Amino acid sequence: MIHESGSVSIQTENIFPIIKKWLYSEKDIFVRELVSNANDAISKLKKLSSIGEVELDGDDRLIIRVIVNKDDKTLKIIDNGIGMTGDEVKKYINQIAFSGAKDFIEKYKDKADDAQIIGHFGLGFYSAFMVSEKVQIDTLSCQKGAEAVKWVSTGGTDYEMDVSDKNERGTVVTLHMAEDSLDFLDESKMREVLQKYFSFLPFELYLEDAAAKQTDKEEKEKQEPKPLNDTKPLWLKNPRDCTDEEYKEFYRKVFFDYNEPLFWIHLNMDYPFNLKGILYFPKLKHEFETMEGQIKLYYNQVFVADNIKEVIPEFLLLLKGTIDCPDLPLNVSRSFLQNDGYVNKISTHINKKVADKLTSLFENDRENYNKYWDDINPFVKYGCMKEEKFYDRVKDIVIFKTINDEYTTLKEYLDRNSEKHKNKVFYVSDEKQQAQYIRMFKDNGMEAVVLPHGIDSHFITFLEMKQNEIKFSRIDADLSESLKDGSADQTVDKEALEKLFKDILGNENLKVQIEGLKTVSVPGMILLSEHSRRMQEMSRMFGGADLRNMFPEELTLVLNSSNDLIKTLIKLKDNESRKDDVAMICQQVYDLAMMSHRQLDAEAMTRFIERSNRILERLAE
Ligand code: ADP
Repeated sequence: MIHESGSVSIQTENIFPIIKKWLYSEKDIFVRELVSNANDAISKLKKLSSIGEVELDGDDRLIIRVIVNKDDKTLKIIDNGIGMTGDEVKKYINQIAFSGAKDFIEKYKDKADDAQIIGHFGLGFYSAFMVSEKVQIDTLSCQKGAEAVKWVSTGGTDYEMDVSDKNERGTVVTLHMAEDSLDFLDESKMREVLQKYFSFLPFELYLEDAAAKQTDKEEKEKQEPKPLNDTKPLWLKNPRDCTDEEYKEFYRKVFFDYNEPLFWIHLNMDYPFNLKGILYFPKLKHEFETMEGQIKLYYNQVFVADNIKEVIPEFLLLLKGTIDCPDLPLNVSRSFLQNDGYVNKISTHINKKVADKLTSLFENDRENYNKYWDDINPFVKYGCMKEEKFYDRVKDIVIFKTINDEYTTLKEYLDRNSEKHKNKVFYVSDEKQQAQYIRMFKDNGMEAVVLPHGIDSHFITFLEMKQNEIKFSRIDADLSESLKDGSADQTVDKEALEKLFKDILGNENLKVQIEGLKTVSVPGMILLSEHSRRMQEMSRMFGGADLRNMFPEELTLVLNSSNDLIKTLIKLKDNESRKDDVAMICQQVYDLAMMSHRQLDAEAMTRFIERSNRILERLAE
């Protein structure tokens, strides 16, 4: 080949500064593009060999090498794939890549930056100029009698081509790094980038440091060089051949999570689209941890991105997993993905697989399902609220933990309690704070479910909307008939007792209700209407005192006429000489009821302590 130099005819002279600026935030994309090209070149060679077009020697190991060299400021990406002839370099590098660049600029001039679109426009190779002052290609095609070619460009639109002295099949891309990108020549930095994108590349990938100290090099040479990647990731294996230990090991390796996952789903589908992957349900480290997952998306074993909402149903992002989907047009823009029917199908498929797995656990291994529930329930609830289809699939297997530490479905709970409280679900949001109410429930053989998570208040509103007849009521919201003692003395002067409390507490608006309760030991308790409490919670969430004033708290003080103290109080209330004692008892009963409901504020607490001390002094008299 004779020496040739040229300039590519495109109007836009300043492509590279623009590309550089756009891609600045994800500079390491150039590594992904160049190593992917090397991988493709090897994969094409394999294909040619499989159809007998090229003969490969049995010892011919197909590998990719990346060599960093701080001394001469170069980065080399070397493959022994198909290589290119001079004509191919002209066609693929000079024409296609340049015109791709042109299309790219024209289409995306005014749009926000998005590194995903680079490859689509054949800009892959040219991303090398994001970090290089000069790029050189030396390549020898696998075609018989091919001549090695050298191509050099300093960016812009000019290039030079010449004969190369390369004598082995394949391609070497040499980047002469720009001053602001020398950090990529750091071995550990490059290792990190390669591991991010290529941990599961199908061909072996090696990293070498040509500038490493002689002693370090000798040390390394003594050891058998190890590829950076696992060329056969577990998701490619047939699920039937994978052991639990392999799944766990893979999880540890990919997510650096040393807690064992609860269980997993192996996605393995060839038709109607190609989708492989493993989704793990992680164990929450502590009770109140919010789930934060990570779904890594791969395209033919090359990492594309984490957590792409457009492909993976949003609620699944709470899980951890890898998904490899070679059919997806992952190099195109995200807005395209959103509207792609194909992407929707994939998302629906994953959705179904997850619901199937949960259903099969529920049906065949309820004991473990119950055990996992504390960890997976935020995920299932979030999924129900986010995806109608998911809700339809799992609605009957949503379970609830009860105050008796048992697990129940909504239907089981409602059936069991239909006589006591039809279509009503009592729940506890804070087992400590609501302990007194729980005790009363237990004493009277009643059942409530425990819903302590932030997501639960939204979830119950959602369930009420979905299943109109059902109402959720917090355990302290109203008094179930089952807690009342039907045979209690009804002759109590309720009005007088109510007036006494209102006067002493100085609160005309206080609602007082007098009931004979089965639990005789409790003198008083506070009820807070479910409706007003939810309104309060909502206004707190969305802020604004105005809203809060619109929905004042509706507290009711329930006095237990079966309780001895209340009975005595009724007798004492008109006794002038015990007036002070009566006042103290009323206040103390009220404060104690309040305390079982929530924390007293500082002022009320101080008064309560002072009064308690006085009561003790009185006892000691
Ligand atoms: P894309 O990879 O998206 O097609 P690129 O700009 O990265 O776009 O590359 C353009 C073309 O140059 C490739 O399609 C391929 O034919 C050729 N090419 C690039 N790198 C290599 C390589 N290492 N070996 C062989 N051919 C290559």
